[in-house]
Amino acid sequence: MRNKGTPILEFRSVSYRYSGTVAVDDITLTMSAGDFMAVVGPNGSGKTTLIKLALGLLKPSGGRIRLFDHEPGDFLDWHRVGYVPQVAAGIQERFPATVAEIVAHGSYSGFAPLRFWKRTKTAEVMAALEAAGVAHLSDRRIGELSVGQQQRVLVARALVGEPHLLVLDEPAAGIDAAGEEALNDLLQRLNHEQGISVLIVSHDIGAVMRQANTVACINRSLVFHGQPHELTQNELGKLYGFPVEVLLHDALHEHR
Ligand code: ADP
Repeated sequence: MRNKGTPILEFRSVSYRYSGTVAVDDITLTMSAGDFMAVVGPNGSGKTTLIKLALGLLKPSGGRIRLFDHEPGDFLDWHRVGYVPQVAAGIQERFPATVAEIVAHGSYSGFAPLRFWKRTKTAEVMAALEAAGVAHLSDRRIGELSVGQQQRVLVARALVGEPHLLVLDEPAAGIDAAGEEALNDLLQRLNHEQGISVLIVSHDIGAVMRQANTVACINRSLVFHGQPHELTQNELGKLYGFPVEVLLHDALHEHR
C-alpha cells in the first residue's frame, strides 16, 4: 500500500472528445493514496468518461494521466486496481484487468465469478468474500442474489487482487436503501481499516457527501474539488442547475 497522501491518480489538463462532443474539458485533478474520492455531476457530465480515461479504456484527446506513475495505456500492474462495474448495467462487463486476474486463477469463460470461486475457493478468494460480507453466499448462483448482494460480490471480485485502488461506477444504481447502506459500510471499512483508496462515481450527492473525504464536481470541466464540507449549495446549484438543499440537508448537517 502506498504511503497515505502520495498521488496515485493524476489528471493534468485532460480533455476527451467523442467525435463532435467534448465530454471532458481540461480537467486537472489529483487523487492521493488513502483518499475516498467521489466524482459527482449531472447525467452526461463526463463522469464515466473520466473513469474510462483513468482505466486506460480511452486515450485522452489532450493532457496527461498518471495512474500509479504510469500512463494508463502502459500500466501493467492491474492487480492494484479493482474495478466494480454497475450491476444495473448488466454483469457481462469486460474490464480486461479484472478478467485477467480471474483468468490467472483458473479456467474462466464469461462472467461467472461464483462458478469459478466454487471450484477454487482459495484462501485469497475466501478472504475477499469475507471482506465483502458475502462468504455465506459463496455456493449460491449469482442470478439468485439481490442486486445489492451482486454488487458486493463484484466488490469481492475486485478485492481478490488486493487492490490499492477501488473504482466504482454508480455502485448504488438499482440497489434498495438497505443494500446501499451495506455497500456504503463496506466501502468505509475497506478505506479506513485496509487503507484502500476508493474512487466512486455517483449522482447521489447526499450519500457521497457523507462518505467521501474529497469530492470532485464535474460538468465537462471541473467545477469544484475539495472536502465535502467546503462545497457550497451555491456551487451545487450551479452544477445541477437547481437548488439541492433538500438532498444536502442531512449530509451537511453531519459534516458541520
Ligand atoms: P456521465 O457518466 O456523467 O453520465 P458520460 O461520460 O457517459 O457522462 O458522457 C459525457 C458526454 O459524452 C455526454 O454528452 C454523452 O452523450 C457523450 N458520450 C458518452 N459516450 C459516448 C460515445 N460512446 N459516443 C459519443 N458520445 C458519447
